[in-house]
Amino acid sequence: ADAQIPAYAARLNAPQREAVLTTEGPVLMLAGAGTGKTAALTARLAHLIATRRAWPSEILCVTFTNKAAREMRERVGRHIGDAVEGMPWLGTFHSIGARMLRRHAELVGLESNYTIIDTDDQIRLLKQLIQENDVDEKRWPARQLAGLLDRWKNRGLNPGDLDAVENESYANGRGAQFYKLYQDRLKTLNACDFGDLLLHILNIFRTHHDVLAQYQQRFKYILVDEYQDTNQVQYLWLRLLAQTRKNICVVGDDDQSIYSWRGAEVANILKFEKDFPGASVVKLEQNYRSTPQILAAASGLINANSERLGKTLWTELPPGEKVRIIGVWDAPEEARRVGEEIERLESEGAPLDQIAILVRAQYQTREFEDRFIQIGLNYRIVGGFRFYERAEIRDALAYLRVIAQPADDLAFERIYNQPKRGLGAKTLEAMRRHARQLQMSLAAASLDLCDTDELPARARNNLVALLGQFVHWREQADKVTPSELLRSVLAESGYEDMLQKDRSAESAGRLENLTELARAMEEYETLGDFLEHVSLVMDNERAGDGEKVTIMTMHAAKGLEFDHVFLPGWEEGVFPSQRAIDEGGLASLEEERRLAYVAITRAKRRCTILHAANRRIYGQWTSSIPSRFIEDLPEDYITSETTMTGGASLWRANWSETDDPFAHVSTSRPDRSGKRGPGWQRALSSGYDTTPKRLAEPGRSAASFAAKPRSDIALG
Ligand code: ATP
Ligand code: MG
Repeated sequence: ADAQIPAYAARLNAPQREAVLTTEGPVLMLAGAGTGKTAALTARLAHLIATRRAWPSEILCVTFTNKAAREMRERVGRHIGDAVEGMPWLGTFHSIGARMLRRHAELVGLESNYTIIDTDDQIRLLKQLIQENDVDEKRWPARQLAGLLDRWKNRGLNPGDLDAVENESYANGRGAQFYKLYQDRLKTLNACDFGDLLLHILNIFRTHHDVLAQYQQRFKYILVDEYQDTNQVQYLWLRLLAQTRKNICVVGDDDQSIYSWRGAEVANILKFEKDFPGASVVKLEQNYRSTPQILAAASGLINANSERLGKTLWTELPPGEKVRIIGVWDAPEEARRVGEEIERLESEGAPLDQIAILVRAQYQTREFEDRFIQIGLNYRIVGGFRFYERAEIRDALAYLRVIAQPADDLAFERIYNQPKRGLGAKTLEAMRRHARQLQMSLAAASLDLCDTDELPARARNNLVALLGQFVHWREQADKVTPSELLRSVLAESGYEDMLQKDRSAESAGRLENLTELARAMEEYETLGDFLEHVSLVMDNERAGDGEKVTIMTMHAAKGLEFDHVFLPGWEEGVFPSQRAIDEGGLASLEEERRLAYVAITRAKRRCTILHAANRRIYGQWTSSIPSRFIEDLPEDYITSETTMTGGASLWRANWSETDDPFAHVSTSRPDRSGKRGPGWQRALSSGYDTTPKRLAEPGRSAASFAAKPRSDIALG
């Protein structure tokens, strides 16, 4: 019989095979980290296509990141060849939503060439609305509103659906009003935000039954990875789409639910059997990824959580090294130490792309970047818009956006006077006023404005010239490649000139970045394709640049694996984050612990955890305490060392108070009963008012936590 097993299913174990072969009806695969859930899902996809149960275009397959989708496509391609080319519906919820919305934009009052705005634009737009409507932005920050909008959209709520409590949560009962104003403004701009990619589609499904029926008909099979992190609106989507055929297979792990702050509801996976009665439930218990030591350490840790289903994991892999805990003096030493360890691994033949540093917060990466640049270690940062976030890149993109979509006011505002064209704040004011009066986009209204004598002659002439250039570029856009178009725009707009005249070292780098942008665009046939790519792709890694160490957040590392994993910053206030500690609730600390579980289980062979005794926050040195999660690790599976005393770790050492610089830490070691609330934290740090009060990213206000920056998460 074995001879008949197709290649894509050959190495799968019995329950995995069951998940692949049970093609009809609902299937739930609920299993721990590294047990081959994603592998089984990929095989299932190959199986459905190879056995002609469905055409590639008839399968909806949702992955957590664009990268995961790419990998899945590659793997399936290896088994079924070119047939995989046509898999339009394999991707993240957001990319699939964007694709659907292009087809049905008119149903929600948009045109099919709509723009997807990012968090930055969103904030600017909200600021405008807040000002226009006489609300004190200091009291009711735009970021707070952005966070609320996100939350509502994630829950599938439209302005009319907000209850009194939600409505009260912004500007004394004006939540729904601002939500509506914002949505209306987006419509005028022919734009939508990330949340809309999901919410608009849900609204369309709810109100246009013909459209829903069409997709229910089309998607013969639905596959979803990382189901434990779906939010309400995604859940509602899937339920509607799977309603008629019920061929839906979801996989996930309740212990890896780490996105509740973005509206994910672990309940979704727990109630799957209720939603889809008669679902086949597949459990996987064999872990193929990590050594027994790593697995045992991770299992011991997650055992400290109370809210979990609980599951068994075992592995046949030979025992490896214990999980290492290293205590260092401060953050620079932490980076130095990790650098040394990586160089050692490299000299032992470890490929760099099998090494990862996973951090809790984005700001932690800088120290490593600095160090690695210094020692010439190749690295990449995954999960941020870094490259596309740079000012010159954003400017160039703004030009391109206005070309693609004349009604894109936010983009137009960004560059109408960049480079300087003598169009100042007064002109902008006049343009805005005119646009409001005529209910037109800024660019269109400006053209009209130039027919009046409202503007001084010089401003008028310059504005007319700029608008004329856009007409010209728009014509060009149909004739030349996107990257050629960019080159003309940079040359003709005077932007390049501006940078060339500026002799600073910075501007040389800026010009290089723009060249790099043009290079990136060469891969795209149309401007629209490229702009969509920019909006959707969060990881800006460049292919073919040699092997690199990966630096990314733990959140973004979900679903991935590396031979060697470094986990720096395991200190109270960093990890668990100060916010989780301040909230003090069990739920937030348990979510942090799940994140720790995700982080450790990314490691295949070696896992190294670091904690520093001192950390500089906002320019101030503060002493820190090792993370409670270190305490959760079973002693049998870890080794501890510290670079400061050459002895055992801070926690486990028996220092005398006189020669121990951290006596305040070790004398009041917490009990092991597991009850360590904020009180414990306070007790330990009492007398040390330098203890970090809040560990936000530098430059971000505390309120920005409400609208968690998207840069540290993958699209999903
Ligand atoms: P996570 O919960 O972290 O997303 P997962 O359950 O999706 O993990 P996979 O990433 O699919 O796990 O698999 C983990 C590793 O085990 C991968 O390297 C995969 O290639 C390997 N693997 C999966 N199934 C098998 C199998 N039956 N035999 C051998 N190796 C396997
Ligand atoms: Mg997986």
